[in-house]
Parts: sequence; C-alpha cells; structure tokens
Amino acid sequence: MTNAPRLLDKLVSLTGIQDVELMEFSLLKTLAEFIRPIELSILKLDRRGNPSYQLHLRQEHYEILSENFSLPDEIFSAIEIVQGTKQQFRSILDSGNILIAWHVLQTKTQNVFLVAMTARELSKLDSHMIRGLLQIYRNFYEVLVEAQRDQLTGLANRKTFEEVIQKIYNQPLPTTDPVQVERRGETDSHAGYWLGMVDVDNFKRINDTWGHLYGDEVLLLLSQLMQHHFRESDLLFRFGGEEFIAIVRTGNEEQAHKAFERFRSAVEKHPFPQVGKITVSIGVVKMDPMIFTTTLVDRADQSLYHAKKKGRNRVEFFDELLEEGLVKITEIAAGEIELF
Ligand code: GH3
Ligand code: MG
Ligand code: MG
Repeated sequence: MTNAPRLLDKLVSLTGIQDVELMEFSLLKTLAEFIRPIELSILKLDRRGNPSYQLHLRQEHYEILSENFSLPDEIFSAIEIVQGTKQQFRSILDSGNILIAWHVLQTKTQNVFLVAMTARELSKLDSHMIRGLLQIYRNFYEVLVEAQRDQLTGLANRKTFEEVIQKIYNQPLPTTDPVQVERRGETDSHAGYWLGMVDVDNFKRINDTWGHLYGDEVLLLLSQLMQHHFRESDLLFRFGGEEFIAIVRTGNEEQAHKAFERFRSAVEKHPFPQVGKITVSIGVVKMDPMIFTTTLVDRADQSLYHAKKKGRNRVEFFDELLEEGLVKITEIAAGEIELF
C-alpha cells in the first residue's frame, strides 16, 4: 500500500469539506487519481427514475448536467442492476472498455450512483478502496445534509439559504433547462428566479388556542404542502419561526404569479386536523444578482407586510407595489444589517 499516505491526505481534505457538491468534486478527483478512468461520474436519478444530475469527469474536465439530459442505454442497465443488488457491477462495452457502476445512496427524493469507464479491470485493492471512499461519502453526506436541514420540517434551514443563493448565481444555467427551451426566442429576458416569503396568517392565535404542539404540527403540514405544490426543482427553506421562503424559477412573471397563487390557494383549501382552515400571505420579489441578498429579503418582507395590510391570504409582488407607489427602492449596503 505505497499509496496509503497519499490516500490518507486525500481523506483528510475530503472530510474537511462543508458542502455536498464540493465533496462530490473532491471524491471524483480522488478516485480519478487512483483508478485513472476514461470517464467518471456521480449520477443522480429523481424519484421517478429520471436522470436529474450528473457530475461528469473526463480528461480532467468537469461538467455538471441537470434536468432533461439522457443517458446511454448501457449506463441505464448498469445502474438498474446495482440499484437492485447494491453490489459493484461491471460489463464490457463494444469498444472493449469496461463500465463499472456502484450504488452510492438512496434518499426520499433521489438515488445516487457512481459510474466509471476504464480501459483496464480494477484490482481488488482498487475496488476495496472505492467501497471505503463511498462509505465515507455516505457518512459525510448524512452529516452535511443534517446540518443544512430544519429539525421540525426537514426543509433547508436559514443557514443554507445564503449558500444556495450564491450557487444560483455562480452556476450558469444549463442550456437544457426546460424553462429556457420552452421560452426560447420569446420573453427570455423575463425568465428568472422569484423569491417568495411565506408567513402564516394569525399564527399566534393557533398557538394560543390549541397550544404549541398543534402549532408545530401546522408548520410541519404546511412544509409538506409546500413540497407538494411547488416543483421538485424549486428551493424551499424554513426561514424563521412561521416564515418560509420559496425560490421558484419560471419563464416570466405571470408564471411566477401562478406558482405562488397555486400554493396560497392550496393552503386555504387544505383542512388542517383540529385547527381547520389556515391561510398564508406571500411577498415576492424577482431575484437579481446585482442586488444584495439582504436587500432582496427586505423587499420580499416589505411585500409581505403589504399582503398582510391588504387583508392577508394574498400574494403581493414587489414591482407591482412599486408601481402602486406603496414601496420605495432603497439599497441596503452589505454589512449594514446582520441577517445571517
Ligand atoms: P400575522 O398574520 O400578522 O403574521 O400574525 P401572526 O400571529 O402570525 O404574527 P406574529 O409574527 O405576531 O406571530 C408569529 C407567532 O409564531 C409567534 C410565535 O409564538 C409563533 N411561532 C414562531 N415559531 C414557532 C414555532 O416553531 N412553533 C410554534 N408552535 N409557534 C411558533
Ligand atoms: Mg411572522
Ligand atoms: Mg404570521
């Protein structure tokens, strides 16, 4: 095991990482150095079994594919097999190269696989090392994902919110993004992310009438309604006590209206056990990489305030309130408000 000290160094840096995607980059890099594959990928399938994410490495070039991409049949067959057996699976391709697949982990929303194409068979030691690294990945995945989650609802927590916003702006949108394809040549400049702040109406009354435990139950059910009525690709956070944030990507403002309105109306119609009818108010702002996150959150909050003022159980958009003269544009300088 002359590689052992190097492997140990890699492990030390791998386990110091605080972010799932960075850890995946690092895992691929480490594996690639040891097994020298032609291609190596981490592949994720959504709960319907469709490919939803691929981090792909070929000749030191990384690529991320997300949504609406297809996979060669031989990869599909291989991961179908490993999903069942949970054992490493290898097949020889027509080209003479070897395709090897591993099942990495399964969560409620996705199945994760590692797929390698190599020119030579892996040694027993290679296979052993990969199994070990995958187990480390699984353990750290649990720890990292747990730290990003809100305990009560299981949604992403506020700490994760800022990191996610950074990622949205750093990553160019994939050209296969369904919204872009759908809207190509049309109102593309209107496409974007919309940040909606959701606040339960008169929540204090629920706690006061039924007690905190019922209040918590309402928050849990509400988070489930959110997960059900927004799309799988929308980003949902528990922002504070009875406040949630949904980041939705749509092709234009009308679609954003529909998305938030659909959720508002679903909550209104949902019979909450014991408590009965609950409503939410929502303040929405279009996201813009040139505007500080604190300013965006403040604008969503102002819009929410007006939704409450106009009678609750409503969705208000910042730019429409601006036209009505109800809100003003004020930039909050970075560092002026300590939000996070
Ligand atoms: P409004 O329609 O103006 O939003 O009225 P509200 O009563 O919802 O507003 P307010 O912000 O005054 O009250 C929010 C309440 O939410 C206060 C707090 O007791 C309750 N709350 C915050 N976090 C939690 C939580 O985690 N669990 C429970 N059960 N209650 C919470
Ligand atoms: Mg509140
Ligand atoms: Mg409230």
